[in-house]
Amino acid sequence: MFVDCTGSRSVLLGKYLQVPFVDLRGESINDFATAIQVPYLSDDAEIASATVATAQSSGWTWDIGLSSRRGVGYVYSSSHISCDQAEVELRNYIAKSVGSSVAGELSSKTIPIAAGHREIFWKKNCVAVGMAAGFIEPLEASALALVELSANMIRDELPMSSAALEIVAERFNSIFRYRWQRISEFLKLHYVLSERRDTPYWRDVTDPERVPDSLKRLLELWKYRAPHYNDMLHVEEIFPAASYEYVLFGMGYHQSRIGRASDNVEAGKQLIAETLRSSERYIAAMPSNRDLLARISQFGLQKI
Ligand SMILES: Cc1cc2nc3c(=O)[nH]c(=O)nc-3n(C[C@H](O)[C@H](O)[C@H](O)COP(=O)(O)OP(=O)(O)OC[C@H]3O[C@@H](n4cnc5c(N)ncnc54)[C@H](O)[C@@H]3O)c2cc1C
Repeated sequence: MFVDCTGSRSVLLGKYLQVPFVDLRGESINDFATAIQVPYLSDDAEIASATVATAQSSGWTWDIGLSSRRGVGYVYSSSHISCDQAEVELRNYIAKSVGSSVAGELSSKTIPIAAGHREIFWKKNCVAVGMAAGFIEPLEASALALVELSANMIRDELPMSSAALEIVAERFNSIFRYRWQRISEFLKLHYVLSERRDTPYWRDVTDPERVPDSLKRLLELWKYRAPHYNDMLHVEEIFPAASYEYVLFGMGYHQSRIGRASDNVEAGKQLIAETLRSSERYIAAMPSNRDLLARISQFGLQKI
C-alpha cells in the first residue's frame, strides 16, 4: 500500500497511475498566491487571535498572527491582475500596519495554484492524501481538514485482505468526491453573496453562470428558511449546516430576504445582547493572545 503525499506534483496517483485531474478553474478563478512574512514592530505588539481575511481588487488577503511574525498573503486571479500589480497591492495593505519603508523591503514568494482535484483518490494500492489529491484555495483551510479525514478513513478501512481493496477504494472515492464537491460549493458561497461589483474580478466571481446548480438551488431554498441539517446528505459533513449559517448571516443574506415575526426579532435582539455581555465578561478575564502564547511556549498546554 502506498500513500501519495507528494503535494501538487502527485507523483504516484497523478504521474505514475495517470489519474486525470478535474480542473475547477471555471468555478474557482484564483490561480496565484503571493506571500510575505511581516515582522512585528515591537516585542509586545498585539497578536491577532483570528485570521483576518480582506477582499481586495482581484481576490483576498490573509493576515495570520503568529507568535514571532505575521504571515500575510494575497490570493488572486492572474486574468484580472498581474503578479507584479498584485504584489504592489499586497505591499500597500501591509504598509498600513508597518509603514511603507518596512513593507517595501520585505521579500515575497509567489505560488501558482491549480484549482482542482484528481478524478479518483484511491487507485489499486495507492491512495493520495493532501495536495496530491487536490487543492482549491486557502479560504476556509479545508485542505488540512481533508488530510485528517483521509487519514482517519484509511486507518478505519484499510482491509486485511487485498480482495477487499477495490471495495474500500470505491467507498473512499465516492465519499471524497462528495467532499470535494461540497468544499468547492462552500468556497463559492463566500463570493456569490458579495455585493461588490467595483472591479472586473468581482463582477466575474459573482457571475451566476459560474455558480454550480446545486448551490443555486440551496440559495433559493435558504431565501425562505435557514440551512438545516437535512440539507446535508452525510453524517460527517466537512461543512455542516451551521457553517453555511455563519456565512449567510454574516453576509446579511437572511435579514434582507426573510420577513420575520416581530417577537422573534425581539427575542433575537435579547439573545445577541446577552451574548455580547457574556463575551465582554470572558474577554475581561482572559490574557491577551500574546501572553497566552508566551505562557504556552514556557509551560506547555494545561493537561486536561
Ligand atoms: C498559498 C497557500 C495557502 C494555503 N493555506 C492553507 C490553509 O490555510 N489551511 C490549509 O489547511 N491548507 C492550506 N494550504 C494547503 C496546504 O499547503 C496543505 O494543507 C498542506 O501543506 C498540504 O500538505 P501536503 O503534505 O499534501 O503537501 P506539501 O506541503 O506540498 O508537501 C509535499 C511534500 O512532498 C515532497 N515531494 C514531492 N515530490 C517528491 C518525491 N518525488 N519524493 C519525495 N518527496 C517529494 C515535497 O518536497 C513536499 O515537501 C495552502 C496552500 C497554498 C498554496
